Amino acid sequence: MYRPVQDEEERYLLHQLHLAAVLKEDSVFVPGTQRGLWKLRPDLSFVFFSSHTPCGDASIIPMLEFEEQPCCPVIRNWAINSPVEKSNNLEDSKNKRDCEDPGSSVAKKMRLGTPAMTLSNSIAHHETQESGSIKPDVSSSNLTKEELDTANGIAPGSFKVVDVYRTGAKCVPGETGDLRKPGAAYHQVGLLRVKPGRGDRTCSMSCSDKMARWNVLGCQGALLMHFLEEPIYLSAVVIGKCPYSQEAMRRALTGRCQEVLALPRGFGVPELKIEQSSLLFEQSRCAVQMQRADIPGRLVPCGAAISWSAVPEHPLDVTANGFPQGITKKEIGSPRARSRISKVELFRSFQKLLSSITEDKQPDSVRVQKLDTYQEYKEAASAYQEAWSALRKKPSFASWIRNPPDYHQFK
Ligand SMILES: [Zn+2]
Repeated sequence: MYRPVQDEEERYLLHQLHLAAVLKEDSVFVPGTQRGLWKLRPDLSFVFFSSHTPCGDASIIPMLEFEEQPCCPVIRNWAINSPVEKSNNLEDSKNKRDCEDPGSSVAKKMRLGTPAMTLSNSIAHHETQESGSIKPDVSSSNLTKEELDTANGIAPGSFKVVDVYRTGAKCVPGETGDLRKPGAAYHQVGLLRVKPGRGDRTCSMSCSDKMARWNVLGCQGALLMHFLEEPIYLSAVVIGKCPYSQEAMRRALTGRCQEVLALPRGFGVPELKIEQSSLLFEQSRCAVQMQRADIPGRLVPCGAAISWSAVPEHPLDVTANGFPQGITKKEIGSPRARSRISKVELFRSFQKLLSSITEDKQPDSVRVQKLDTYQEYKEAASAYQEAWSALRKKPSFASWIRNPPDYHQFK
């Protein structure tokens, strides 16, 4: 499962900038028209692949009666007339599960679930309850008629929407929130959400929201904009075989960023192709779930993350619960305990790149003012910040959760 974080891309792009600006070697960048600025080679475009539909809004997918499940069949007799279902509050049940009295009705229901249900309700983050199936008897929904009719490419009128796939991604404060009614009326669509299954140390937005933001701000982040004439936009997003809806993807990724007013020069909302592959990624949740269909017990993701960037030095970054593999408890807090794609390490690479460029070849944005901290460098990327302000003026992005400034006050 690819997590849509931009850190691997940033690492790659920083290396490409180093090739172009310092080593004068072949790179994806060519000189721009202004001093110290670069632009993407015109014959190149970036395609984003994810083995699973992004968490958050894109995962709220209409479920149709008689529809063949895209994969991972779920058994529908679970929890019928149970107290859990009456409360219509599966998410809360799941999240409270760990602190529940193990003998409580909620805990019992979770364990008594059929293997398929138990699995799909036990997986954190991306791999959350998207495939949870609830008693299919409700057809009301706040999805539009078109969304319902065109979901999964099925001809209008031939199927009844009985439910929606759910996302464990909760709405951010300030959004109206989910209705949590049974069946298809459980979720509200088009809302900002935070990543499911995370502690509240940092509030990370859901992948659907981050990807929607890329459509306007680019996927390079604020720092790299110091070197770029225009942001780097994805030209296509491809999702592997899994529960998927073209309509939900469009609504979540592009529908929310139309008509952003007063974007600075170079920024825009270019067309994004959204496609689904018929190939099942063999390590995807669906595939693992199918292999384990007869094995009872919870399927939980491990805390390990492998990221790979096309860079010559240490292309692989393997972390367990956020720390590089092999780190001892004593070393936590030391530089060795930092992932190569952490903000601090990326900032180091950025500073290294900047210091390798002679001052007369540096971009104006970093020459005209004295910048020190990560936060200062980010804020000084003025076109990027202007575009971000313009986007936040739209009601659909107004409640975006931002990390507190002190989180970025490192040098
Ligand atoms: Zn996610």
